[in-house]
Amino acid sequence: MLSNPPAVPTRAPLRRFCDACQRPRPAVGFVQTRRYDLCTACASAYTAARDAGLQVTVGQFVRDARFGEAERYRLRLSPDEHDG
Ligand SMILES: [Zn+2]
Repeated sequence: MLSNPPAVPTRAPLRRFCDACQRPRPAVGFVQTRRYDLCTACASAYTAARDAGLQVTVGQFVRDARFGEAERYRLRLSPDEHDG
């Protein structure tokens, strides 16, 4: 006689806590570094900043994001097209 095992709820979280923007974000797309978990948006912002030549570590990026300084990364990413 067979008995079905009880249904075990999956423990995979739907949301994870982003170390940079300090918010619960959809777990899908999270990037895990050595010390920090970054949501998709923060991870791509960090990557883009690096690609733009900004010498910043993940730790610095996380700290700046926490203190609301992440805007400067975004500003760097949108080149000013006006010639003044
Ligand atoms: Zn984030």
